[in-house]
This record gives sequence, structure tokens and C-alpha cells, in this order.
Amino acid sequence: MNLEKIMTDLEKKHPGEVEYLQAVREVLESIEEIYNENPQFESAGIIERVVEPDRILTFKVPWVDDSGKVHVNLGYRVQFNNAIGPYKGGLRFHPSVNLSILKFLGFEQIFKNSLTTLPMGGGKGGSDFDPKGKSNAEIMRFCQSFMLELWKMIGPETDVPAGDIGVGGREIGFMYGMYKKLSREHTGVLTGKGINWGGSLIRPEATGFGAVYFAQEMLKTKNQDFKGKVVAISGFGNVAWGAALKVTELGGKVVTISGPDGYIYDPDGISGEKINFLLELRASNQDIVKPYSYEFPNAQFHQGKRPWEVKCDVALPCATQNELGKDDAQTLVKNGVMCVAEGANMPSTPEAIEVFQEHKVMFAPGKAVNAGGVATSGLEMSQNSMKLNWSSEEVDMRLHQIMKNIHEQCVKYGTTADGYVNYVKGANVAGFLKVANAMLDLGVL
Ligand code: NDP
Repeated sequence: MNLEKIMTDLEKKHPGEVEYLQAVREVLESIEEIYNENPQFESAGIIERVVEPDRILTFKVPWVDDSGKVHVNLGYRVQFNNAIGPYKGGLRFHPSVNLSILKFLGFEQIFKNSLTTLPMGGGKGGSDFDPKGKSNAEIMRFCQSFMLELWKMIGPETDVPAGDIGVGGREIGFMYGMYKKLSREHTGVLTGKGINWGGSLIRPEATGFGAVYFAQEMLKTKNQDFKGKVVAISGFGNVAWGAALKVTELGGKVVTISGPDGYIYDPDGISGEKINFLLELRASNQDIVKPYSYEFPNAQFHQGKRPWEVKCDVALPCATQNELGKDDAQTLVKNGVMCVAEGANMPSTPEAIEVFQEHKVMFAPGKAVNAGGVATSGLEMSQNSMKLNWSSEEVDMRLHQIMKNIHEQCVKYGTTADGYVNYVKGANVAGFLKVANAMLDLGVL
């Protein structure tokens, strides 16, 4: 594989798509060796085919606010690769959304979904719409307008979107309602649905639970567990709250959460009624980080800072991409962090990852650690197909098993000569091999 030539060609074709190019480079670097050992991949043009999405839909989303003013946002769906199953991946509503970010997320999703062992291809979508500060009615009108275009592209056996940043149960409900009306079908076309209309128990907390199950497996390799461990978490969204709950349940102490304007440090631990307090604020679309420090006086709010300056044993970045840089990584290492597991997608910069790996800190990437979310979406699809609902215990047991399997695959493909597990390599190689072999079987498409 001529990695530099592939990257130069891609940069020419897609100038300025920083996040997408960053994600492709990371995957190619880690699969280079296995790719070169398998000349059939090269002759079938697997790399050239896997780095480009099958297709991209872009569309305008006009909607009317409560005062009668018309707004227009952009909507996207990137259908990246369906070699092993229908396109599958979340929808993100955030002002920062652009094609580069959705292509990076869709590309990562291919390998993440492959790791889950479930039959799901990779895709991603969303809009630059900002749900913050909008009324319920405005969000409903936006979601309906978004689905008015998207519904033609998706289907339970074609493309099954889910939630992501800015898209939780409420937004999925509004979009699903519109899809149902347009298609006159009640099918598993979206996941993250409400429990009364086709959703799965445990799906809301699955990504966070899965991330902690994965980190638990990492700790196990050093004969450690979460008991008594101090844990720094960033964000407090769909992923972070499930992670905080599970860490607490396993005996760890979560001492931070964060938002775009700073982080909270609570030396007493963020658990129980404090998590419920945060969830209530979140449900009513309010700011959560600052109010926490007013409600619980032992907690301190650190304006404009990130939680990585706090001394911790385990760090779980669960907010957004590139939120943990080289300096943060150096501070974490200096403070003795032993395990960093990415709940978010690509929260650590490549330079930060290098620091962790140089210092032999256990580090695992989002595509392995947060795969429990999409895995449970896969379990939701199975339940929809069977027209059955599994109990929480059953879903949780399957999720736990899937996370253990993903960890095993990472260890199998990522263990280096000195015994250190390079989880980035392990996850990329395991995820890639399955997709590449499927593409070989299916011919040039
Ligand atoms: P949410 O929107 O629910 O939560 C994001 C959280 O991060 C919010 O608390 C938000 O604060 C905070 N945040 C946003 N930007 C920053 C920033 N620059 N610095 C610090 N905090 C910030 O999103 P999700 O929890 O769904 O997703 C988080 C990450 O996990 C994303 O990378 C996503 O792709 C990934 N992921 C999500 C899955 C899921 O099931 N939802 C599955 C797999 C991966 P505020 O609300 O105040 O803006």
C-alpha cells in the first residue's frame, strides 16, 4: 500500500475535509501491514473503494419558528458501505455539522459496526440545525421537514439511522412519526425508538454501559477493576450519563462532567440523585454544567477548561471529536492515568494518542469502546424483525457479551511483541478484515 500517495490523492479530491482525512489516515496506518500481506485486497481496489462513500444525499431543510420566521438548514445522509448489512449510523444535529465530519463518522462506523459481529453496514447523517434553545414545537417541525426528504433514502433493510449528538428519544420520535405517515409502515427504520413504539430496553444507556464494560475488560488485563477508581468523564449527554451510572454501579467514583464552556469537578462523586438532577435539566433542554455547581456546593465549575487536568485513574472522553489534545494527554499521564477509553468518536487527537501509546497507557478508540450503542441498535432491529421485546436483563447480557467479544478481537489483532495492546490497530484490523473479505466475495460494485 502506498499510503502517502493514497492520502495525497484523497486530499486533492476532498480538500479541507480535515476530520475525514484524519480518520482515513488513522485506519490506513493501522491496516497497512495486514493489507500488504493480502495482495488480493490490492488487486480488488479495496482501499480505493472503501474510503469513498457509496453515495451522499444533501438537501435543504426549511422550517418555521414559533414567531413565524422561516429558517433553512442543510441535511445530509452519507451511505458509506453496505457490504455486510444495511447502512447503519446515527444522525447528528449540531451547528458544527458538515460533510467532512459526517464522512469521518460514516467511515469509522463501517469498522465499528463490523466489530459488533452484527450484520450492519456504515452510514451517518445529520444537519447543522442547533436544537439548543428551541421549543418542542420548533424541534418537531424541523424533524418533520428533515424526514420529508430523508425517508426516500432509508428503509429497515436499506438504511437504518439512529441518534447522535443533538438527537435523542424526542427527535427520533418526531422523525419516526413522519416516516410512518409517509410510508404507511410501522417498521424498524430508525433505532433509539421509544419503548412503547418499537424501542429496546437499555438502548438509551447502552453506549455508556458498553463503554464501561469495555474499559472493565481493559482493566482486567492488568488484574484491576473499577472498585475505588477515580474516573474523569467529559460531556453529559447520551453517552456520558450511562457511563457515569455504570462506573458508579461497579464501585468507581466519577468526579467530572463537562460542557462546551467548562467542566465540573465534584470530589464527592457524581452519582445517584446528582445524576437524576442532571438528567432532569437535560430533559428540559437547560444548561446543566453550571447549575450543578450551584446545587451541590462542594463541586467547582472550571470555566473554559477541560476535565483532563484532574487527577484520575480512568479517563472516559464522552463529548465530541478532538476534545483531548497532546497537552491534555501529557497531563493525564503525569497524573498517573492507567486507562483511557473513548466513549465519543475520535475525541483524542492523533498527537494525544501517541502520548498514551508511548507511555504504555491503556488506550482504546471510540470505534471499539462505544460500539455498544450501535450493537444495541442492532439488537433493537432484531427485536423489531421478530416482533418481540427482550427484557432489560437479556439486552444487557447480550450487550455485555458483545463488548467482551470486541475486546477479545482487539487483543487478538492488536497485541504487540512486548505484550502491550494497541487497541487502535486491533480494532481497525478486526473491523477492516471482515468488510474487505465481504467486498471481495461480492465483486466490484
Ligand atoms: P449528546 O449531544 O447527547 O452529548 C454531548 C455532550 O457533550 C453534551 O453534554 C454537550 O454539552 C457536551 N459537549 C459538546 N461539545 C463539547 C465540547 N466542545 N466540550 C465539552 N463538552 C461538549 O451526544 P452523545 O452523547 O450522543 O454523543 C457524544 C459522542 O459520542 C459523540 O462523539 C457521538 O458521535 C458519540 N457516540 C454516540 C452514540 C450514541 O448512542 N448517542 C453512539 C456512539 C458514539 P451541551 O449539551 O451543553 O452542548
